[in-house]
Amino acid sequence: MDLDFWWLLVIPLIFGLGWMAARFDLKHLLAEGAHLPRSYFRGLNFLLSEQHDKAIDAFIEIAKLDPETTELHFALGNLFRRRGETERAIRVHQNLLNRTDLPVVERDHALYELGQDFLKAGLFDRAEAAFELLVTGTYASEAQRSLLTIYGIQKDWRRAIAIAERLEALGVQPCRKQIAQFYCELAEEALQRKQIDEARSELERSLVADPANPRAIILRGEVEFGLGNLTSAIDEWTQIEKENAIYLPLVAEKLMRAHEKLGRAEQGSRLLIDYLERHASHDLLDIAYPHIAAQQGIEAAHTLARAQMQKAPNLAGMIRLLDAQLATATDVRRSEFELMRTLLVQRTKNLPRYICRDCGFRARLFYWQCPGCRGWETYAPCRTEPMSNS
Ligand SMILES: [Zn+2]
Repeated sequence: MDLDFWWLLVIPLIFGLGWMAARFDLKHLLAEGAHLPRSYFRGLNFLLSEQHDKAIDAFIEIAKLDPETTELHFALGNLFRRRGETERAIRVHQNLLNRTDLPVVERDHALYELGQDFLKAGLFDRAEAAFELLVTGTYASEAQRSLLTIYGIQKDWRRAIAIAERLEALGVQPCRKQIAQFYCELAEEALQRKQIDEARSELERSLVADPANPRAIILRGEVEFGLGNLTSAIDEWTQIEKENAIYLPLVAEKLMRAHEKLGRAEQGSRLLIDYLERHASHDLLDIAYPHIAAQQGIEAAHTLARAQMQKAPNLAGMIRLLDAQLATATDVRRSEFELMRTLLVQRTKNLPRYICRDCGFRARLFYWQCPGCRGWETYAPCRTEPMSNS
């Protein structure tokens, strides 16, 4: 075949397949060009004319003739998977696996890629079976990570813990935070079944894995609160300031509720003022403001709101300041303030709140696990207003 015609076929393929180009040794390909089988060009033609099935058949034919083409198969299989064509990806990788002459490393690679195909297709049992065969070898760590993903999706927390502990022990990746979160998930399940002792045990295990885990501390407080042990609940929740004060907005309302039940609402509001002085944030102020206004008077709440606005102005803070002005405004000013307030409330109503620091997923509710990237503790427990300057 003419070398010029070669270029016409190879260059569009390299550009068209993106990342595949990086793995494809063009010089090697050109050097060996004269010996390439006709199936290769047939495969390229099929690929370029979007006839993927026929292209795969042609490439499989090459694979039988020349074992060195396995890289092309891996590239094609991955390309199909990335496009969501998982059936085609599975077919490519299964055909590789069916070959008896494949070296062990290539076989493990094919098995790992096949597991990824099944995972992408949502066939978790088959993906799990593939990854479980990769206990040793080059792909063992990656296979364990994928198993962790599968058990997380299936909420099989016990097996997720076993895998995470293995990864941690092997030094593959730190998993203490994840393990602590898995135990918290088990504790929440136990609480739903009203199995309090079991929930307590899971929370203890969570805190062994990650002694400052805020979720476990918050849940321990909830267990005590549910049992009517209000002082113990307060003791748990007040630990948050020491362990990780950024999570105070998640316990402020709970602390206030426990104090109110004990008939100590005034003491509770003073605790919130202390927190605001030491760890001021808009989220904490949002929760504390009505309680402080009720217990310490509107002027005390207003002073805190004004101080927070001076530190970090935002639209929600502006609404609070307008509320304070409205409380003492004359009739003429009142209508102006109400108009401003209405506009601001409309403007801020649909602002996203929590933002995942790993993938940027925005959520109105706080999550311990991001619904977007499935990362754990990737949300800071404070909301942001992307349209403001804060
Ligand atoms: Zn995320």
